[in-house]
Amino acid sequence: MSDVSLQARRRRTFAIISHPDAGKTTLTEKLLLFGGAIQMAGSVKGRKAARHATSDWMALEQERGISVTSSVMQFPYGDCIVNLLDTPGHADFGEDTYRVLTAVDSALMVIDVAKGVEERTIKLMEVCRLRDTPIMTFINKLDREGREPIELLDEVESVLGIQCAPVTWPIGMGKRLKGVVHLITGEVHLYEPGRNFTRQDSTIFPSLDAPGLAERIGESMLADLRDELELVQGASHPFDLDEYLAGRQTPVFFGSGINNFGVQLLLDFFIEHAPAPQPRATTTRIVDPAEPRLTGFVFKIQANMDPKHRDRVAFMRVCSGRFEPGIKTLHVRSGKEMKLANALTFLASDRELAVEAWPGDVIGIHNHGTIAIGDSFSEGEPLTFTGIPNFAPELFRRARLKDPLKLKQLQKGLTQLSEEGATQFFRPLMSNDLILGAVGTLQFDVAAYRLKDEYGVEAVFEPVSVATARWVYCQDAKKLEEFREKNAMNLALDAADQLVYLAPTRVNLQLAQERAPAVAFRATRETA
Ligand code: GDP
Repeated sequence: MSDVSLQARRRRTFAIISHPDAGKTTLTEKLLLFGGAIQMAGSVKGRKAARHATSDWMALEQERGISVTSSVMQFPYGDCIVNLLDTPGHADFGEDTYRVLTAVDSALMVIDVAKGVEERTIKLMEVCRLRDTPIMTFINKLDREGREPIELLDEVESVLGIQCAPVTWPIGMGKRLKGVVHLITGEVHLYEPGRNFTRQDSTIFPSLDAPGLAERIGESMLADLRDELELVQGASHPFDLDEYLAGRQTPVFFGSGINNFGVQLLLDFFIEHAPAPQPRATTTRIVDPAEPRLTGFVFKIQANMDPKHRDRVAFMRVCSGRFEPGIKTLHVRSGKEMKLANALTFLASDRELAVEAWPGDVIGIHNHGTIAIGDSFSEGEPLTFTGIPNFAPELFRRARLKDPLKLKQLQKGLTQLSEEGATQFFRPLMSNDLILGAVGTLQFDVAAYRLKDEYGVEAVFEPVSVATARWVYCQDAKKLEEFREKNAMNLALDAADQLVYLAPTRVNLQLAQERAPAVAFRATRETA
């Protein structure tokens, strides 16, 4: 087997999806602990502290700076190399979050045992659906009282529309938490408060019948557990690898992140079953990870901590081949050769200069705005990866200049900011308005600050009557022209000159759709 193929098979590249406060940061720390990247655990916390002061730009800057290093965390575990791609949470939630999910091979969904399926989880799950991303589920905070496990599985199945296959099952909960049973191996892992903080060294019984177990957890609890398991096995699905890989079934684990309980069982199962890098589609052909030549695409752009230097880091997911410093690549969109000299890799302990990277890994490429989200790189073949979408923003504001003579700078600034992908920029066909769209409100503050700081433009963002946006497509040129004429009032061009319908209300959108059945209204635009 070739080096590339061997290295690709060792990779597990994933992201954690969850509603804020379900325990993503805590779980990330524990996973890194298992990977031996103990130092990093502190940084995750530091970042977390910074992100609570979101109204303060300095805190923001600080956070952005730190998150360059922590937005990709790589650690070894067993024979594997795990790449954990951070999805920004809380107020800075935006399109970046969505797009990170296009760069992973699987996801881990964290659910709070007391809260069940929450709104952000539903949104992120919808994005995973676009590519049938396989998902494992961790039900967290078992050390607290929560909802009945069976009820939670029901909720996941009905709200998220995915089959559940419990792999571990809790024995009690809250103060009565005794441990979990592994439904595949039969092993019982005891929960011992205070003992599970670092690495999991809990007492393990080989089965429910093992001598000594009844004394540890109590006869009646054991009897109840047996009854419950009978019920569970009747009501749920056994783990099926193919169904999981197809994104139709999610293996479910129970535990407590903060107590590091149940985490290793999850990680071991993840390493064994989560998919290694898969073949990826381009506009011309499918690229196999084992191909010897380097290919990749950019899924995220981050401005440098110091806004005076218009330096950015483009995050490229390697899809095939091997990256080594100095490698000559083709930047497919511009058709130009680009030598990747000082790219970054992301070992969890610290940001490091890239030594090499393989399929599934992420490298950071410094540039001054030449690289945009969705750009593909290759060693010569003009391949363009598909499926890196722009998502329809949910919030819209009109940019108003304090000094009207600065229109050119404003346009330039808005275009460049939208290339970074956190916001989108629309120019209506029938007016001179400049409309900014974002997924989170914080993005407008960031945009205003950066316009002033980096482009010397003072702009305010004021309300505009746009409720939602859809990219419009039509095969039939004549019908499209007709549609354009009739709806010019509501049409705009995005930064890439694609036609977008800006609907003042949802009802308006619905009517427009009904009146133009030949036109497709899409909530995502693929960059490629
Ligand atoms: P995030 O917003 O999803 O990153 O969530 P955090 O990891 O920051 O956790 C949110 C809160 O839940 C914090 O106060 C954590 O200490 C707490 N937490 C996380 N995991 C557990 C757990 O297993 N049990 C309990 N009781 N609290 C937890």
